[in-house]
Amino acid sequence: MAVQLVDTFGRVHRDLRISVTDRCNFRCTYCMPAEGLDWLPRSELLTFEEIERVARMLVERFGVDSIRLTGGEPTVRARLADLVGMLAPLGTDLALTTNGVTLGLLAGDLAAAGLRRINVSLDSLQPGRFGEITRRDDLHRVLDGIDAALAAGLDPVKVNVVVMGGRNDDEIVDFAAFGRDKGVEVRFIEYMPLDAEEGWRSDAVVGFEEITRRIGEVFCFEAQRRGNEPASRFRYLDGKGSFGVVASVTRSFCGSCDRIRLTADGQFRNCLFGLEEYDLRAPLRRGASDDELAEIVRGAVRDKWAGHSIGKVHFVRPARSMSQIGG
Ligand code: SAM
Ligand code: SF4
Repeated sequence: MAVQLVDTFGRVHRDLRISVTDRCNFRCTYCMPAEGLDWLPRSELLTFEEIERVARMLVERFGVDSIRLTGGEPTVRARLADLVGMLAPLGTDLALTTNGVTLGLLAGDLAAAGLRRINVSLDSLQPGRFGEITRRDDLHRVLDGIDAALAAGLDPVKVNVVVMGGRNDDEIVDFAAFGRDKGVEVRFIEYMPLDAEEGWRSDAVVGFEEITRRIGEVFCFEAQRRGNEPASRFRYLDGKGSFGVVASVTRSFCGSCDRIRLTADGQFRNCLFGLEEYDLRAPLRRGASDDELAEIVRGAVRDKWAGHSIGKVHFVRPARSMSQIGG
């Protein structure tokens, strides 16, 4: 029986997010600066073998049962399907978050390598606006990517929408209708202060109440029971699927958070908003044993705080942006 990764507030951690690269082929305005970021030199990235070693240790020792690959844009890392193939035998619920632009090419290989589920980020269904938000004119490719993920049998396919006041909040109902028609679950995400340009303002957050109110004006739905997952989920009463709201700002779910994170350069993080990182790369590269790695992780989780304080005067923004930490 694995030892549990428990913090001082009694939260058990089983959900691992692995950033496989800090690079991205998009520069979404809410995530990256217009000029892009300096990418990490390749030698600073964990190799697939190093990632697999940390993941295996966390699964075997601490009962981690869910792994999500993210970034940056995970699909820009060459041979991503090989990594999926190395992680699949660990037997966790293995997922990927992607901007979807290359899924038309990759979805089949990823599914064949053992990927189960996928989240595709898409913030506008309008080509011009999509181009303004992502700084790439690729809406059609992302839509094709969603179709390719469905055709490859990935299940569920979810679509992540960051809702920003005055930018795309007029598309909330359009996205709800899109999800119902395509058979994908749309997850509306509250805009968080992790944009690289530090342009976030609290009045740009379109919150849980507003999102559900607007959908409720058009479609009937009921709340579903919620476990540890961050999204509040709702089922349409006519049987046409469900949607979710990730209310990280207005209804923080820190009290039930079970996530731990590994950055592309091998830093262990106990919180998306945490100010501390715990280096695993140097110990890995000097030949540390699994016992030593496990001790670092145990200490990092023990030190976890109660939760973030977005919107309060004492909130301190983490030094790295969402794309560098791994969303
Ligand atoms: N590149 C991939 C993608 O876009 O899906 C994976 C990495 S991205 C950082 C992961 C998720 O974080 C995406 O769904 C993205 O929309 C979300 N995200 C990025 N910046 C955000 C912000 N400031 N507030 C809320 N969500 C954000
Ligand atoms: Fe890239 Fe994803 Fe950030 Fe957009 S949200 S810039 S696709 S990492």
